[in-house]
Amino acid sequence: MEKEKYYISTAIAYTSSKPHIGNTYEVILADAIARYKRLKGFDVYFQTGTDEHGEKIELKAKEAGIEPKKYVDNVANTIKDIWDIMNTSYDRFVRTTDPKHEKIVQKIFKKMYDKGDIYKGEYKGLYCTPCESFWTESQLVDGKCPDCGRDVEEKAEEAYFFKLSKYQDKLVEYIESHPEFIQPESRKNEMLNNFIKPGLQDLCVSRSTFSWGIPTGIDPKHVVYVWLDALTNYITFIGYDPDGSSDEFKKWWPADLHLIGKDIIRFHTIYWPCFLWSLDLELPKQVFGHPWLLTNNDKIGKSRGNAIYADDLVKLFGVDAVRYYVLHEIPFANDGNLTYELLIERTNTDLANTLGNLVNRTISMANKYFDGVVINKGVKEDVDSDLISYINNLDKKVEEKMDKLEIGFALDEIFNVLRRSNKYIDETTPWVLAKEEDKQDRLETVLYNLLESIRVCACLLYPFLPGTSDEIFKQINISDKDLVYKENNEYKDMKPEVLFQRIDKDKKLEEINNNWFTNVYML
Ligand SMILES: [Zn+2]
Repeated sequence: MEKEKYYISTAIAYTSSKPHIGNTYEVILADAIARYKRLKGFDVYFQTGTDEHGEKIELKAKEAGIEPKKYVDNVANTIKDIWDIMNTSYDRFVRTTDPKHEKIVQKIFKKMYDKGDIYKGEYKGLYCTPCESFWTESQLVDGKCPDCGRDVEEKAEEAYFFKLSKYQDKLVEYIESHPEFIQPESRKNEMLNNFIKPGLQDLCVSRSTFSWGIPTGIDPKHVVYVWLDALTNYITFIGYDPDGSSDEFKKWWPADLHLIGKDIIRFHTIYWPCFLWSLDLELPKQVFGHPWLLTNNDKIGKSRGNAIYADDLVKLFGVDAVRYYVLHEIPFANDGNLTYELLIERTNTDLANTLGNLVNRTISMANKYFDGVVINKGVKEDVDSDLISYINNLDKKVEEKMDKLEIGFALDEIFNVLRRSNKYIDETTPWVLAKEEDKQDRLETVLYNLLESIRVCACLLYPFLPGTSDEIFKQINISDKDLVYKENNEYKDMKPEVLFQRIDKDKKLEEINNNWFTNVYML
């Protein structure tokens, strides 16, 4: 049987500077979803990458005294390194300076121009240079840029425009008849009521005041402006071509999920659908605008001086502790909060105690009482059925949460079973059974049940904590990845090793305080 396809993408990261943990969060989230879909038998394509054009990069490169291409090469490499450090399983890392992309974007521009969807006009507006955005008077907050709070300046330039207005009615109709298209739901209403229904202005899609962009191809003075260049990455890199697309494109498009930050949902649910319609293409099935990761409830950003980087966190806590924290703490619709104290607490309570201790105690008891060989002796008691039903319901419960992209709640379901298993140890008291000669088969059954629970939990932990899942399988020394309790597995040659070291909070905070490394901002 052919596998069902699943195409997931992140937004492409802007190569103006190294991404902080708030930006890195998105690729970890996408990775968990991609791995989960693979686990469930889907044929997955996971695309991420970098957005490398624009005035801000031109300025930054100039400041650094290097060519823009050299500048973006450096930052793109840093970004890819961080994605790799976080153990993300993307299938393709794309860069908008790739000549293949540039060539197709030119063709797209021409196709839209020939169709009459792009025309030449003059752009007047209030411009924020760092954000590369024009704003209307009503969008400003206290007279400043609504995104970064900086001053804006009046600016006019000759430019090419995309006829967004032409697609307004179609867009309203589409969004209202496809409730799953924009998630979470609250974002859908915001887009409809605040942006689309009040009236769509035609969108400026070229610039002539800087040169670091893709040439329009039809007018040498102009380069393609940001969104037409950036958004099209989702189709150009899988083989879209106005002159005839590849089989790869036909296989993967439309995308199943564009995962993006809530701040760019407007561009993905207004501009992008209209661009796609102009090209006579289908829309992605879903756009999910995830919440932000805050530090001490403040938005992370370099300009705010509180940037924390994923690679530094990994040096302090390890990859899976950081993955666990960001995946678990960031709720579905509200912003998440990151502090060192909370990260330490979560690592200690959930990872070291609930998960690590369970695995370690169970394997140690198996080694101590049965020389590490455990099979199911079938001496069941009432208390077993509750544990076994927890194990057997887990797959379905995780699926329900993952289908709604409630990643943190999916993790909670797994940890509920781990907690239930720890409680099972208290209920069955293996150390008491061990002292009674006629209870040896019961004791072995108890340990068998615990190992089955650990096995199924480890399978389902894989999307979230892939390294830890692999390590648990190594320790329990079994290859069975079925997501149900089995009666006849055999456990042997198991080796317990500490999965997560308990962190001494004061010591760790002191270590951070002493600037063990340089980039960290103290919370
Ligand atoms: Zn700004």
